[in-house]
Amino acid sequence: MKFLSKKHRRYLLIGAAAVILLLTCLFLGNAFGLKTRVDSSLKLIQASRGLNSYDIDVEFDPETKMLRCNQKVEYINKSEDQLDHLYFHLYPNAYQYENKPVFDKYEMLQAYPNGFSPGFIEIYDVRVDGRKANYVIGGYTENVIMLILEGSLSPGGQALIEMDYAVQLPNCLGRFGYGDNMFKVVNWYPIASVYDENGWNLDPYYSIGDPFYSDAANYHVTIKAPADYIIASTGRVKSKREENGSVIWEVDAPAVRDFAWLTSNAFETASKMVEGTMVTSYFFTQEAGMKVLDYAAGALEYYNKVFGKYPYAHFAVVESDFFIGGMEYPNLIMVDHSLYQNDRHGYLELITVHETAHQWWYGLVGNNQIQDAWIDEGLTEYSTVLYYGYKYGEEKEEEIYKSIVGEGKYKNLQVYYDSDDIDETIHKPSYAFENWMLYDILVYGKGSMLFHSLREQMGDKLFFTALNEFFKEYQFRNAGKDDIIRVFNQVSGMDWEQHFNNWLYDE
Ligand SMILES: [Zn+2]
Repeated sequence: MKFLSKKHRRYLLIGAAAVILLLTCLFLGNAFGLKTRVDSSLKLIQASRGLNSYDIDVEFDPETKMLRCNQKVEYINKSEDQLDHLYFHLYPNAYQYENKPVFDKYEMLQAYPNGFSPGFIEIYDVRVDGRKANYVIGGYTENVIMLILEGSLSPGGQALIEMDYAVQLPNCLGRFGYGDNMFKVVNWYPIASVYDENGWNLDPYYSIGDPFYSDAANYHVTIKAPADYIIASTGRVKSKREENGSVIWEVDAPAVRDFAWLTSNAFETASKMVEGTMVTSYFFTQEAGMKVLDYAAGALEYYNKVFGKYPYAHFAVVESDFFIGGMEYPNLIMVDHSLYQNDRHGYLELITVHETAHQWWYGLVGNNQIQDAWIDEGLTEYSTVLYYGYKYGEEKEEEIYKSIVGEGKYKNLQVYYDSDDIDETIHKPSYAFENWMLYDILVYGKGSMLFHSLREQMGDKLFFTALNEFFKEYQFRNAGKDDIIRVFNQVSGMDWEQHFNNWLYDE
């Protein structure tokens, strides 16, 4: 006999409740647009089955900038191999050494305006299935933990991994840390490395690109924070209760590939419902905060229509101390504070829309962002161009395509570099790009051109059908080069491999 774990029982219960709600809703003749919401939650419940589940308790102290955490992960071996070890990334440790930073040299002053400040994670105790486990912490900046299993884990087998740890947030304006206004608790907890056809993916936190790759999982997170702090997070706040001057936030997030949260005691908020998803803008700057809400809601509505319905109940756009510009996490995006102050050349809209498009390409359809960054960045950048066409018309679409993502930058490659000896391959690991500028021009720019040329040759109808299919087939999963080409081939009945290769590699 095998008992269902508590968490699985919870999702089954939610499932049963959702079925009843769906029937009631259909009976009422789809009153109040409830049907979309119920369809979405049923889809999430279905998607959450068979995924790893994380249960994390966090105590947040804004004085010491520390988190104290207890984490339980129900890990399922989804591969066909016996696993003797399990690996988890410890991303906070990428921020611990000044001489091994996650930034390029020229970015250090912007990232650390008050001087270098270390961030790290300290692991106190690890248990596997209730027993103290042996483990080794290693990697470039001690950014990976290897758990040694007592017996190996068979395909389909499960292990309960429990860890006690503390996280120190750095005073840093990059992704992880805190600035003058707020705390960015992102890539902060031990997250299972992906085990795929190439084995374990243990890449360090490279300075170029988004160095992340993860499987969708279920999260249940409770965060204890001082009562005046507002939390924007992945998932849905299930309850909030007061305890001795603190508030305990309980958050559920089924079928997401990461869990991020941002917090401040100065956030103002404004929300808007878009087809079953509550979009909330968290801001310090009123006028721009409202604009961002409109941009995000507009983009969500458009992408729902052309790519497929966003299944989550919440989406947060957060004014952040993030000097790089914008960053995507599931159900949550960060947009830099400076863009709210001074909306230069429409960047506030551009970045908000780009990060919103990532909810489909990275969030729902995942990929290895180190090896195949052109899939999520190329598709996302081109999706941003499409939004401008939809909202402002063809002329604007062309202008954005030419000046920002496509030909403008790409054609100037020779001018920037004064050489025709540049490797224009875009299908290569992010660390193989010489610098951010080349990465940007090639992965984002040439990546968008790949999709633009596909659209021109296939026609809108087939192109959008292929993107729809790609989304439908790979949401909550990870896709690679062969997967996306196969979908385009299948939908069109033609072979696009050569076309992809022409754009992906330097001929
Ligand atoms: Zn992006």
